[in-house]
Amino acid sequence: MIHRHWRLAALLLFVSFATAKAQFSTAITSDDVMRHIRILAQDEWQGRGSGTPGGAAAAAYLEEQLRAFGVAPASADGSYRHTFEFVSAARLGKGNRLAISAKGKSRSLRVNDDFRPLGFSASASFNGPVVFAGYGISLPDRGYDDYAGIDVKGKAVVIMRYSPWGDKPPMEFQASTSLRAKVLKAKEKGASAVVVIIGPADTDTDVPMKLSYDRQAGSADLPVISMRRALVEGWIGDPKQALKILQDSIMSSKQPRSFAFDQITLDLQTDVELVRAKADNVVGMLEGTDPKLNHEIIVIGAHYDHLGMGGEDSGSLRPDTLAPHNGADDNASGTAGVLELAHYFAEPSHRLKRTVYFLAFAGEEMGLLGSSAYVNAPSTPTSRMAAMVNMDMIGRLTDRKLIVYGVGTAAGLDSLVSSKNIDSTFVLKLNKDGFGPSDHSSFYTKKIPVLHFFTDLHGDYHRPSDDWQLINADGTRQVLDMVAEVMRALGDAPGRPVYVQAEMPRPMGGGDGRSSRVYTGTIPDFGEQSEGMKLAGVREGSPSAKAGLQAGDVIIKFGKVDIKNLYDYTYALGEYKVGDSVPVTVRRGDRTLTVTVTLERRN
Ligand SMILES: [Zn+2]
Repeated sequence: MIHRHWRLAALLLFVSFATAKAQFSTAITSDDVMRHIRILAQDEWQGRGSGTPGGAAAAAYLEEQLRAFGVAPASADGSYRHTFEFVSAARLGKGNRLAISAKGKSRSLRVNDDFRPLGFSASASFNGPVVFAGYGISLPDRGYDDYAGIDVKGKAVVIMRYSPWGDKPPMEFQASTSLRAKVLKAKEKGASAVVVIIGPADTDTDVPMKLSYDRQAGSADLPVISMRRALVEGWIGDPKQALKILQDSIMSSKQPRSFAFDQITLDLQTDVELVRAKADNVVGMLEGTDPKLNHEIIVIGAHYDHLGMGGEDSGSLRPDTLAPHNGADDNASGTAGVLELAHYFAEPSHRLKRTVYFLAFAGEEMGLLGSSAYVNAPSTPTSRMAAMVNMDMIGRLTDRKLIVYGVGTAAGLDSLVSSKNIDSTFVLKLNKDGFGPSDHSSFYTKKIPVLHFFTDLHGDYHRPSDDWQLINADGTRQVLDMVAEVMRALGDAPGRPVYVQAEMPRPMGGGDGRSSRVYTGTIPDFGEQSEGMKLAGVREGSPSAKAGLQAGDVIIKFGKVDIKNLYDYTYALGEYKVGDSVPVTVRRGDRTLTVTVTLERRN
């Protein structure tokens, strides 16, 4: 019985093998590109979300193709899979409870109906008095401070969403109106819990906010809930002080109206569970042909994950539309590129002298999670990696425009790339920076020269409409022809490219917005973080470099602000001005040291 089934399974596998192999030519062709893209971007795989069945189906397809093309498995366990874990969502634990006692009378409230913790709330408890702190914004140097004249130490603060200017405040207030910034400000002012309501001027609805998990930055240090404003209305009791009157007066006068509630105490317990999931990077390799060079590796990579069915926390630009975000360009095109190049270089006559690793990453849309997991636990030492070539969105070539990042990350990369623009096929836009919003960044943090190919953004970016019908398959084939030539130059050159810390113009800031006003030159490590903000590096000649900060340091305090994550750090920057000398405490290995960083202007 079993024997017969096994055979059938083998036959099926062989058929798919044969079909896979037979279906694709070893040459790089637009037909093959489109065939891979249509398979990867099919509705059935529901946008290839990391940790979802669609994502797993895509990983299985990649493994099957690599095996069919004769590419060897290259994960540490001898498989094609490099598995990593990540937080996929936040959910309510069983321990959420809230009781309010007003003028001696106590009342229990219902989770979900009356209140709900926010996704970044700590799982913690609070029992004590409550203060109304308006919008929870404190910018005295801008003439507005909800915390002026009130003491919130050890108390809970009730704050409204948005700002006295509604949800579109002036630039200099923008960074202070996010809920995270308000919670950090409340913490900084000594509050022990935060209650978020939405003002009657902003909406008629009055329901607790959805529990969502934003990836950027771990959880806050204190319990944070959203609550129906009607409950707070009940505490006020004085119709002249009704919330509508309060909010209207703050919005019209641009002056705060904060006060302590009389005889109101909260007894709060929050319980938020972070849901963990697993996803696979797919890893294959072709051994180099030259024994003197094949200990060195050229990495070719692309992320295969996308936004799944979309929704609020997915990064979709149509968050209201739950539908397959097919990601034909982002990034089925780059993934098809990895497969096409694997098939091409597997051909004996096309083999390179150096070894080639083919990497397809998951978790990119969640913050480069797959690639940073890979470089932090690689299946072979990163020191063997002579260069990394990344492709993310190469499917919509328009007006021959091709953008290549990273040409400043090793000597001669810019002329190498330009030299492979045969017959000026492309209008090349070269950018020196090795850091940017895709997986090459993770490799650059390990001091590996990188190149990143990109045919630019378009109107379907991060929307369900990023479909295969809009793909310029022949344009992608042309990009891959060029990438293949660049890889050949890197793979067969006598010497490996020499890493350079790309000298970069200071990133541009917006107007004199809060957090973008000052410049420190730190480069955050986007991998999963523990307590503090880990540095992937510091920019050459920057204030941080001058202060002696270095890659691997974990910033735990910036001036007066405790730093738990990237978000706290961005927030802390907003608290200081150009020219300020700020004590910065870092963990370096098992030591803790404090240096002084003198802030400079961001150009
Ligand atoms: Zn992408």
